[in-house]
Amino acid sequence: MADIIQLLPDHVANQIAAGEVVQRPASVVKELIENAIDAGATTIKLIIKEAGKTLIQVIDDGKGMSVTDARLSFERHATSKIKTAEDLFDLNTKGFRGEALASIAAIAHVELKTKQEHEEVGTHIKIEGSNIVSQEVIVVPKGTSIAVKNLFFNIPARRNFLKSNTVETRHIIDEFNRVTLAHSNISFSMYHNGSELFNLPISNNRQRLVNVFGGKTNEKLVPVEEFTEVLKISGFVGKPEFAKKTRGEQFFFVNNRFIKSSYLNHAINAAFEGLLRPGTHASYFLYLEVNPKTIDINIHPTKTEIKFDDEHTLYALLRSAVKHCLGQFNIAPILDFERNSSMDTPYNYKNKNISNPNVEVDSGFNPFKEEKISKGFSSNYKKEPATSWESLYVGLESKSNANREELSELQFESEKVTPSIFNDDAIESKLKTFQIHNKYIVNTIKSGMLLIDQHRAHQRVLYEQFLQHITVKEAVSQQLLFPLSLEFSNSEIGIIHNLKEQLEQTGFVFSKLENETVEITGVPVSVVESSVSIVLEQLINDVENEVPNSNFSQTDLLAKSLAKSLAIKTGQRLTVLEQEHLVNSLFACKEPSISPTNRATTITMRVEELDKRFN
Ligand code: ADP
Ligand code: MG
Repeated sequence: MADIIQLLPDHVANQIAAGEVVQRPASVVKELIENAIDAGATTIKLIIKEAGKTLIQVIDDGKGMSVTDARLSFERHATSKIKTAEDLFDLNTKGFRGEALASIAAIAHVELKTKQEHEEVGTHIKIEGSNIVSQEVIVVPKGTSIAVKNLFFNIPARRNFLKSNTVETRHIIDEFNRVTLAHSNISFSMYHNGSELFNLPISNNRQRLVNVFGGKTNEKLVPVEEFTEVLKISGFVGKPEFAKKTRGEQFFFVNNRFIKSSYLNHAINAAFEGLLRPGTHASYFLYLEVNPKTIDINIHPTKTEIKFDDEHTLYALLRSAVKHCLGQFNIAPILDFERNSSMDTPYNYKNKNISNPNVEVDSGFNPFKEEKISKGFSSNYKKEPATSWESLYVGLESKSNANREELSELQFESEKVTPSIFNDDAIESKLKTFQIHNKYIVNTIKSGMLLIDQHRAHQRVLYEQFLQHITVKEAVSQQLLFPLSLEFSNSEIGIIHNLKEQLEQTGFVFSKLENETVEITGVPVSVVESSVSIVLEQLINDVENEVPNSNFSQTDLLAKSLAKSLAIKTGQRLTVLEQEHLVNSLFACKEPSISPTNRATTITMRVEELDKRFN
C-alpha cells in the first residue's frame, strides 16, 4: 500500500497553531502588547475598531527589529527570547514560544512597520494569510507598529463564532487591564472606534489601579506587603465592606504576568473568612515575585496558568500576609471619626445575635409589591382572606410604605387566570401549600402532588414580567427620594449605556451616565433601593459572559439577568401567603414549567407513582 503520511504545509500548520493561540481579538491584543513589553517599550498604544474584528493595532517605542528579524518574526518557532531548553526554566520575558506572530499572520491581514534606534530607515511588511504581499523600506520613528486587520478572514466559522462587539470589547479590556496593571512603569493608552478608553501614564501600582478602575478605588484598598526569601508579596486587597457579588476584580500577577490560580484564590478567601457578607467576593490585586526557576509557565498555551514548585508554602504565606493586613486595617478605624461601625464585628458573627425566633414575617418581602407587576395573576386569596394568614397581612401592611401601597392598587390587574391544574376543592377554600427545606413548595393537585422549586419558579415569573415591560413599555418606576449614585468602571458604564433604553423600559430612570458614575432617580417597582447595585453588577457580569452564538436579544438577556438577581433565593423562608402567591403567579405564566434558563420549575408525582413506591 502507498505511503499516506505527509508533512503539512507551513500555512496549514500555522492555521492550526492559531486555533490555540488566537481564540478571539483579545488574544491578539494580549500577544501584541506582550511583544511590545518584551521589546522594552515605555509607551504602548492600542487601537481597535469594531471590537478588534476589523482592526487591532499596537504601536510601541521599543527596540524595533532589523530587516531580517522583521521577516523572520512571522516564521513559526521564530523567537529571540530563548535559545536553549534550559532558558525555559529562567524566563524573564512574556513570550518564548515564537508562535504568536506566525499564528496571527495565518488568519488575518497583518501590516508591520518597525525600525531600530540607530537605523536610518525601517521595514514595512504586509502579510495576508501567511503570504508576504509586500516588503518595502519606510521612514518611521523607532519602535514597532503591528496592525492586524480582518481577523479570521479565511476561517469564516471562527469569525462567526465571535460574540457581540460588547462582549469582545469586554474581553479586550480585560486583557488590556491585566497587562497594564502588571506594568505600571509603562505608559498605555487604548482607543476604540476613535475614542479614547484609557490613558494610563507611568505611575506606581496604586495609581495605576486608580487610573484603571476609577477615582473612588483608592479608598477601597488595603495595602499588603510581605517579603520573604522565597516570595515577595505586594499589592492590595479590597476592604471587605466593598466586596462585590461578582468576582470581577481578582488579580494575581506572578513576576509581572497575570495568572489564574484557584488554589491561591482559596488562600485569599481563607484570609477573608468571617469578614465578608455572604455571597460577596473579595477583590484583590496582588503582585507576587518568585525566582523564575521555581515556576513553570509552559503548561498552558495562553500562559495564564503556571505551576509553582512549592505551592503549599506560597499558600500559607499569602494567607497570613493578607490576614495580617486586614487585621491591621480592622484596628485602624477606632481612631477614625467617620468610622464605619459595620466593620467592628465580622458580618458572620454579627448576624448571629440579631436573629429573633418570634419574627415570622420577612419585612423585605411585600406580596403586594409583587402583585402590581404580576400581570395575569390570580387574585383568589385576596377576595377571600382566610383568618390563618390575616394577621400576617396586617403586619405587612403596617410595615410597608404607604406610597407603594397606593401604587400597587393602581397597577393591580385582576385579569383572571384559573389555575386549572389545581384541585377544585383547593381553590374553593384556599391552596394548600407548604414549604420544605426553605427550597421547595409542595402542593396537592388533581393527579397527585406538585413540587415547585421556589427560586426557579420566581425567576420564570419575573422574567415574563420584565420581558413584557421591556417590549410593551408599560413598566412603572418608583421614584427614589434621593438620587442614588453608583460607581462603575468606564467599560461597565459602556455596557449599561448599551442597555439604557431597555433598562428604562423596565422602570430604571438614569439622571447621569458618565465617567465612572451612574446616577439613578427611579427603579423598577420590583427592585428595592439597596439591591440596585447588585442587580446592575449581575447584569454587567451576565452581559460579559453572554453565551456564545446565542440568538437571544439583549432584551432577553436583560430580563433573564434581572429575574435571576431578584428572584426569591433558595433558603428563603416563605409565608403561606407568599407561597400561594408564587404558585399562582407561576401558573399565570406563559411557560410555567421551565425556568428562563430552561430548567424544570416543577415536578409532579402522580398518585399511581406514589402508590407504587408504597408497594
Ligand atoms: P515570542 O514572543 O514568543 O518570541 P512572537 O511570535 O510573539 O514570539 O514574536 C516573534 C519575535 O518577533 C519575537 O521573539 C521578537 O524578537 C520579535 N518581535 C515581535 N514583536 C516585536 C516588537 N513589538 N518589537 C520588537 N520585536 C518584536
Ligand atoms: Mg510574543
